[in-house]
Amino acid sequence: MQARPPVTGNESQRLAQLRGLEVLDTGPEFIFDALAKTATEVCGTPIALLNLVDTDRLWIKACIGIGNVRQVQREESFCTHAILQDELLEVEDASEDARFFKNPQVRPPENIRFYAGAPITLPDGHVVGTLCVLDRKPKVLDAIQRSTLSNLAAIAAQALVMRKKALELDRINASLLEEANTINSREILYQAIVEDQTDLISLALPNGELTFVNHAYAAHFGKQPAQMVGTNLIDYVLEFDRPAVKKYLADLCKEPGASNGENRMQSAGGDTRWIAWVNRAIGDATGKVIGLHSVGRDITDRKRIEMDLQATQVRYRSLYEATPAMMHSIDQEGKLLFVSDKWLQTLGYERIDVIGHLSTEFMTLDSRVYAQREILPTFFETGVCEDVPYQMVCKDGKVVDVLLSAVLQRSEIDNSTHSLAVLEDVTERNAIRKNLREKEERLELATTANEIGIWELDLISGRLEWTDTMFAIFGGSREEFSNSLSDWSRRVHPDDLESTEQAFELSIQTLSSMNLDFRVIRADGSVRYVNARAVVVNDTSGKPTRVIGTNHDITDRKLAAQALSYSEKRLRTISDNLPVLISHIDKDYRYTFANRHYQTWYSLSENIEGKTVAEVFGDEVFKKVEPRMTAALNGESMAFELVSEIPNSPKFLMVHYIPDRDADGVIHGVFGMVQDRTEKHLARERLKDSEHQLRAITDGLPVLISYIDPDERVQFMNATARDWLGIDPNTAKNKPLNEVIGDGLYQQRKDQLHSALNGQRIEFTVVSKVRDQTKHLQTTYIPDIRESGEVKGVFALSTDVTALKLAESELQRMVLMDPLTGLPNRRFFDQKLPEAIARSVRTGRSMAVLFLDIDHFKSINDSLGHGVGDSVLVEFSNRVQTQVRAADFAARLAGDEFVVILEDLNGANEAETVALKLLAAIRKPMVTPENELFVTSSMGIALNDAKSISPDELIHRADKALYRSKKIGRDTYSFAETT
Ligand code: GH3
Ligand code: MG
Repeated sequence: MQARPPVTGNESQRLAQLRGLEVLDTGPEFIFDALAKTATEVCGTPIALLNLVDTDRLWIKACIGIGNVRQVQREESFCTHAILQDELLEVEDASEDARFFKNPQVRPPENIRFYAGAPITLPDGHVVGTLCVLDRKPKVLDAIQRSTLSNLAAIAAQALVMRKKALELDRINASLLEEANTINSREILYQAIVEDQTDLISLALPNGELTFVNHAYAAHFGKQPAQMVGTNLIDYVLEFDRPAVKKYLADLCKEPGASNGENRMQSAGGDTRWIAWVNRAIGDATGKVIGLHSVGRDITDRKRIEMDLQATQVRYRSLYEATPAMMHSIDQEGKLLFVSDKWLQTLGYERIDVIGHLSTEFMTLDSRVYAQREILPTFFETGVCEDVPYQMVCKDGKVVDVLLSAVLQRSEIDNSTHSLAVLEDVTERNAIRKNLREKEERLELATTANEIGIWELDLISGRLEWTDTMFAIFGGSREEFSNSLSDWSRRVHPDDLESTEQAFELSIQTLSSMNLDFRVIRADGSVRYVNARAVVVNDTSGKPTRVIGTNHDITDRKLAAQALSYSEKRLRTISDNLPVLISHIDKDYRYTFANRHYQTWYSLSENIEGKTVAEVFGDEVFKKVEPRMTAALNGESMAFELVSEIPNSPKFLMVHYIPDRDADGVIHGVFGMVQDRTEKHLARERLKDSEHQLRAITDGLPVLISYIDPDERVQFMNATARDWLGIDPNTAKNKPLNEVIGDGLYQQRKDQLHSALNGQRIEFTVVSKVRDQTKHLQTTYIPDIRESGEVKGVFALSTDVTALKLAESELQRMVLMDPLTGLPNRRFFDQKLPEAIARSVRTGRSMAVLFLDIDHFKSINDSLGHGVGDSVLVEFSNRVQTQVRAADFAARLAGDEFVVILEDLNGANEAETVALKLLAAIRKPMVTPENELFVTSSMGIALNDAKSISPDELIHRADKALYRSKKIGRDTYSFAETT
């Protein structure tokens, strides 16, 4: 066992210096070879070496005259001794020297005898090696040789230091190059995000002075960006909007934050454009607003459409109101949404009396019950009702009969849940029908009430007998009856008495039967018509003895006959005044009756009664109606719509054919009634057109438009729903919103929807994942508020602002954040460090900069790819950030370099604790799906105890300490020396 070689007093520092030179185990270099060569030549020796003394070995950087030896054991060497002294060490004959005779080089095969070594001393005084000459025979150097050898050693020291500086410079150059690349790629990103944009992007001072505009912004105003910088953004706002915009910006710039706004700007072409702005007030570290960042998008088209939409709704409504028909519309609860002018006219109300009231409030009680129990429930289910007979009550109490036909509007944008009803005033028509019916009933009564009174007159005794029914016919009672003919004659109408008695006498004389009508006046003065029949009975000699007769009250029949003729006259008067065609046609298709409108509708010069249908209207027209007329003649009631081609007359007709049956069911002809439905038809057509038009407008828009009713059911969606959400607008109708768009998207909008359904107009931007794409949807909910103040639904308009949002957030990050790790970047750090130093000076508390660099990061990139390298950087950042206090500041400087600023420290110990915690956290394996990575980091710590120091200096110290950590084996920290 050999003794430990002697070492220098400050061996560990000496070794650190040596390693710091980064020369050990490097290849030959010209300057060191040249120095060794010069040494042999000056000293006249065959051998020269330039040695460096490492922990346990002597490492040879340059050698002349000896084999390919690169290192020898330290304890064997002459140099171990040479470096213990400042002066040159000369050994004339090693075999005679107690220190060296055991040295293997003194023995064969080298047989070294002579050694002279000059120490290589670094500027800080540490001796790192020697420049020495050797010979195989004893020798002595002269003074010049000695001093030259020492000078050459000094040059070697200088060369080592310069070599190290060159290495550092190379390294700095490499990192500068990388920085330049990074900046360059950011420049490209910036170009893509900011300049190649159609959105208008600007930065301004809080007072509105523009400090940056992108090309799109400048182009919008017909300028170059340079021309706009320095001008005030308010100058480009439409003059009318300026006061509002000024106030808005002043409010926004009170504190950092963002908000959206819309205003009009004066564009290059001189026209006014609507721009939607996302404005962000940017604050400094103290929260003071130092700038205004705006991203604008031209939304003129959208605005125009919103306005058009409103205008269309107004048009829509006025169309209804102006239609010359009785029309109204009710909502789901049956309340009147609007009524036509004609409706108001007919019933005598003002619009204010009716809107918002239930439609049934204007009906008779019967109709109201009928509507509520039967008609409305089915109507809301099926969406239609046709010719429902209702009675409406006018303001003055008069009752109007109507036939109401209605459709439920489900699809149009205005409101899917309201209806459109057309009412036809049929009061007069019903009055005629009722009258006729009553007359018929009376006739019926008359013909069936055939109670017959029977009487008998004894011609011999003159005695008259009456049955009870006779008293019912003639009045009076049996008590006051005298059984004489006078009982009869005094009851007969004086005007009829003479003729009646004559007929009676005649019948007795001729023994013939009798049949006559006469009038009776009862005791109460009322007149009855009586039909009397009688037979004369004679004895065997042929002499008349008795007369037996019947009396029959025919008053009702007589009156009915009169009424009938009266009502026929009236029918004609009324039917002539009805705006419909009424006719009767016999079995030969010949008109037996036709009201006056046949002449006015068809400009006919004469009455058509007596002519056939074909004669009046031609074969073509007759052919069209003949099958149905025939069916009616065969007993079938017909009702059908007919499009008439007869020029200059109503086109859309509703025709009714009703068989004309007598009491025995025999058909004698057909009653015809023709109504003009042109207005009703046109009203429906116009409604449809208006719907189509709305859909056509909205379907073409790159805006998602929908209408949601208070039950949160979708009542309308334009075609954009198909493109964006994959939803078919037709099948979505009437379904709950959360079913249509899915619960995820629904939950994001639920609160806003509820607010809108409560009458609030809501604008918001929501990030939604639709069909695997993340979309930023700028959404407006407009409540559909009716005159009554009720919210009938919500219009939803969404614009896709994804590109805008992404640009905005990227821009935001670019300013101060590192895009990969999300940590603050060098720029941010450069702002923070001076502030931290200033605070430290002010408060007298220590602070520290921790400089971290990942160990062997290149090899991760090289072996696993840049992608894995990136995720290591991200994970590394996460770990750093979670280990430091919230008040501390961590940043990524560049590449794999990170810094942490610690403030408010109690001393070096605390910094050390954080450093250990950080290194331990980083050291934990990073687990990825493919690998388990073991990443470590080296760290340099520059502590500053409340001294005023330049930030650069502090970083420089931390950096130097970092390199020390790298050199002494990595995965460790070093403190920088303080000065
Ligand atoms: P050591 O720390 O021990 O000095 O060795 P090293 O391999 O880490 O060397 P150095 O720190 O000088 O190399 C850092 C490397 O990081 C250089 C560069 O290729 C790589 N790098 C820089 N930025 C990124 C980045 O954003 N992503 C990835 N994956 N690599 C990066
Ligand atoms: Mg590294």
